[in-house]
Amino acid sequence: MPYKFTFDLSRIPRFFFTEITKVGYQKGVHKRVGGIVQEMIKRFKIQEATGLNLSDAVLLLEDLIEAQARNTVEREKFVQTRKRVLFLPHCSRKYMDSRCKSVFDPKIPSYFCAHCSPDCLINRAVSFAEKKGYDVYILPGGSCVPKILQAKNYEGVVGVACGEELRMAGGVLTDMGKAGQAVSLIKNGCANTIFNMETLENIL
Ligand code: SF4
Ligand code: SF4
Repeated sequence: MPYKFTFDLSRIPRFFFTEITKVGYQKGVHKRVGGIVQEMIKRFKIQEATGLNLSDAVLLLEDLIEAQARNTVEREKFVQTRKRVLFLPHCSRKYMDSRCKSVFDPKIPSYFCAHCSPDCLINRAVSFAEKKGYDVYILPGGSCVPKILQAKNYEGVVGVACGEELRMAGGVLTDMGKAGQAVSLIKNGCANTIFNMETLENIL
C-alpha cells in the first residue's frame, strides 16, 4: 500500500542518510531515540525540501529509522543465511511501459529484467545481486512475498520498497522466521522511483 503522499529525498545531502543510519542503529540497540525525528526535520529542512506537512514528514522519517533499526537487529541473523533473495519494486524500472523489455511471469507474479537499458536502476541492482548469488524478483506488489518465500524456502531476504510496504513486509518476515534487510526508496510515487544503489550494495 503506498503512502498517501509523495516525497523526493534524492536531493537531500548524503549526510542526512548517514544520520538516519546512525539513529536507526541507536533505535535498534536501545529501542528509543527521543525527539530526534522533529529535530532532524528542522535541521535538514525536510519540509522545505519536500513540501510535506509535518505529520507526513514525521511518518516518513520514522519509517526510514524503523527500517534501519530492523536492519541492525536482524543483521547478525541475516549474514548467517545462505539461500537469499532480493525483492525489487517494479516502480524503479526506467520505463513503466512497453519500452521496458522485461518478461512478466503472472504465475509468480514477477518481472524479469532483460537488461535493455544500462542506466536503469533495476538493471544495475539485478546484475549486482545476481553476481552475489541472489535470486531476484521485480515485484508489482508485496502481497506475493509470502508465497515466493514459502515456495523457494529462502533464508535471507532483502527488500527494496517505500516505508509502508517495508513495514508490512517486516511483519510477514517476523511471522515466517526469516532474516530480513530493507532498503527504503528515497523517492516514491509508484513510477520512476529511486533507491540508493550504494546503500543496496552495502546491504547485499
Ligand atoms: S533494464 Fe530491465 S527493468 Fe530496466 S527498463 Fe530494461 S528490461 Fe526493464
Ligand atoms: S512507491 Fe513503489 S514500492 Fe511503494 S507502493 Fe508504490 S509501487 Fe509499491
